[in-house]
Amino acid sequence: MNSLTETEREALRERYRSERDKRLRPDGNEQYVQPKGRFADLLEDPYVEAVPREPVREEVTVALIGGGFAGLVTGARLKQAGISDVRIIDKAGDVGGVWYWNRYPGAMCDTAAMVYLPLLEETGTVPSMKYVKAPEIFAHARRIATTFGLYENALLSTGITSVTWNDDASRWIICTDRGDELRARFIAMGTGPLHRPKLPGIPGIDTFAGHTFHTARWDYDYTGGGPDGAPMEGLADKRVGIVGTGATAIQCIPHLAKTASELFVFQRTPSSIDVRNNQALEPDWYASLETGWQKKWLENFATLQTGGFADEDLVKDGWTDIAQRIRDRVLEVMASGARPGPDTVQRAYEESDDEKMNEIRSRVDEIVRDPAAAEALKPWYRQLCKRPCFSDEYLQAYNQPGAHLVDTDGRGVERIDETGVWAAEQHYDLDCLIFASGFEVGTEHSRRAGFEVVGRHGRTLTEHWSEGMLSMHGIHVHGFPNLFILGVAQGANLISNIPHNFVHAATAISAIVKHAEAEGSEQVEVTSDAEGAWVDLLDNGVGSFLANPDCTPGYYNNEGGPIGRRERLNGSGYPNGPVAYFDYLERWRSSGDFAGLAFRS
Ligand code: NDP
Repeated sequence: MNSLTETEREALRERYRSERDKRLRPDGNEQYVQPKGRFADLLEDPYVEAVPREPVREEVTVALIGGGFAGLVTGARLKQAGISDVRIIDKAGDVGGVWYWNRYPGAMCDTAAMVYLPLLEETGTVPSMKYVKAPEIFAHARRIATTFGLYENALLSTGITSVTWNDDASRWIICTDRGDELRARFIAMGTGPLHRPKLPGIPGIDTFAGHTFHTARWDYDYTGGGPDGAPMEGLADKRVGIVGTGATAIQCIPHLAKTASELFVFQRTPSSIDVRNNQALEPDWYASLETGWQKKWLENFATLQTGGFADEDLVKDGWTDIAQRIRDRVLEVMASGARPGPDTVQRAYEESDDEKMNEIRSRVDEIVRDPAAAEALKPWYRQLCKRPCFSDEYLQAYNQPGAHLVDTDGRGVERIDETGVWAAEQHYDLDCLIFASGFEVGTEHSRRAGFEVVGRHGRTLTEHWSEGMLSMHGIHVHGFPNLFILGVAQGANLISNIPHNFVHAATAISAIVKHAEAEGSEQVEVTSDAEGAWVDLLDNGVGSFLANPDCTPGYYNNEGGPIGRRERLNGSGYPNGPVAYFDYLERWRSSGDFAGLAFRS
C-alpha cells in the first residue's frame, strides 16, 4: 500500500478545494429548471399511446403508486403474504420505473445483476452478464409483474392527480387523469428518488433551432438505432452536442462518438471512471448456487460496500473495492498491536480514497491519447463526492476522430442560441443538442411525484416535510395513516443498490398489512413520539459523508449549498449503517409488536 507524504496529501486537498470553489454557484439547486414550453413533452410518455378506457371507481386493499422495482417488490411480497387485492398505478405505459423511461443507448446498471435485480430466485431468472443492459432489466421488471400477477388490475398510462385521506371512511381517495376514483385501504408510494428529468437553466435554452431532447426520452426517430445498441445512422451527418458528464452521459457518449459525424461533449465536472470489467455469467456456475443464495449475496455486498467485514467478496467490483482497501489498512494497524479507533478508520478512509483516485487519474493518462483532453478528464475530488462511474468504453471514446471534449473548467455551458452552444468562450454550431442533465433531487415531494398527498386534517406531505423529511424507518409518517413510503432516506440509505432497500421495506409492509387485516384494524399510524424519536436518532448520528463541505458540488451535497437540518434529514440514514438497519427492521417486524405503530379498529 502506497501512502502519500503529508506534503503530497495537503497539496492534493488544496487542489480538491480549488476545483470545488470553481464550481460553487450562488444559485445551487435553483440553477436547474423544470421542463416547460418546448421541453414540456419531456414529462410525457413517448413509448405507448394510452388506450381509452372507462374510469374505474373501486375499492382496493393496497394501491401501489409507481410500478418500478419499489412497487413491484412490494406487490410481490404482499401477494406472497396472501394479500391478493393489490393494484399498481403508474403514468408509464408499463412497469419498470426508471428502466421503462430511460432507453438511451448504452443504458445499463452499474451495480452487479446478481444483487441489483430483485427476486431472481423467486422468478427463476439467470442474468446474462455481471452487469446487464437496460432492456434486460426492463424485461425483469415485467417478469416480476407477470410472475406475481401484478398486471391484473394495474392502471398503466394513468397519472395520479390527488391522493387524499378520508378519516371517516379510513380510506385513501386516489384521483387520476383518466377520471378514476379509487378507494384504497393502504397505499405504498414508490415514486422514485431520481425520476423527474431536469434541465439546466442556461440562458437561451429555448432558442435553439436544431433538434433537442433529454436522455430520459431518447429520440430514436431522429437518431436511428435503438436501445439494444444498434448504430444510430441518423447521426452520421450530424454535429451533436451533449451537456453533462454524469453516470448517464458516460454510458451514451461511447455510442454517440461511434456514430455522430462530430460529437462535442460539454463538460463542467469530470466523473470518476473506474474499470467495468463486465463478464458473461456461466449458466452452469449459476445453477450450482444453493437455494437462498441471493440473500447471502445481498448481505455480502451491502456489508463490504459499507465498510463491514466478510470472509469473501462475492461481487468483487468497484463498489466494494474501496471498502476492502479501508479494511486492509485497519487490519494492518491491528496487526501492529494498536487498537483502531475512529481516527484510524478516518485515516484509512482518506488514504484508500487518495490511492483509488490516483489510480483513476492515472487510468485516464493510460487510455486517452490527447494529453490536453486526458488532463481535463481527471476528477479532482474524493470518490464518493459524486456518483462513481464504471466504464471500459467512455474514456476510449475520446480517441475517436470526431469526438471532442469541450472542457469548461467548471463553468459549464454559458449560453445557447439558435445555431448552437457557447462554451469556454467559443461557439459550437450544432444540429442536435442532448441534455444529460439528470433528475430533480431535493425539491418538494409533490413536485417530484407530480401530485400532492393530503393526510389527516388536510395537512399535505409537502407541509409536513417543509423543514425536512419526518418518518419512522423512512416508511411511516405521522398524520398519514395507512401510507407507506418506499424510498431510501431515513432507512438503510443504501445508494449503491437501491432495490435492496425495497426488499426489506416490502417485507415489513406486507407483515404490517397482514397484521392489520388479522386484527381488523382500520387504521395503522406511527405515533408522533415514535416518529420524533426516530428522527432524533438519525439527526444525532454521525452525519453523512455526502454532506462533506469539501466535496465538489452535485446532487449528493445540495449542489454545494448549505447543509442545514432539512438537507440532513432528507439525506439521512440509520446511524449504524444499512446492514444494521436491515437487521433492526427484521427484528422489529418479526417480534410482532410493531413498536411505534398504533393499530386502531
Ligand atoms: P447527473 O445529475 O449525475 O449529471 C448531470 C450532469 O449535467 C453533470 O455532469 C452536470 O455537471 C452537468 N451539467 C449540469 N448543468 C450544466 C451546465 N450548465 N453545463 C455543463 N454541464 C452541466 O445526472 P445523470 O442522469 O448522469 O445521473 C443521475 C443519476 O442516475 C446517477 O447519479 C445515478 O444515481 C443514476 N444512474 C444510475 C445508473 C445505474 O447504473 N443504475 C446509470 C445512469 C444513471 P456537474 O457535475 O458539474 O454538476
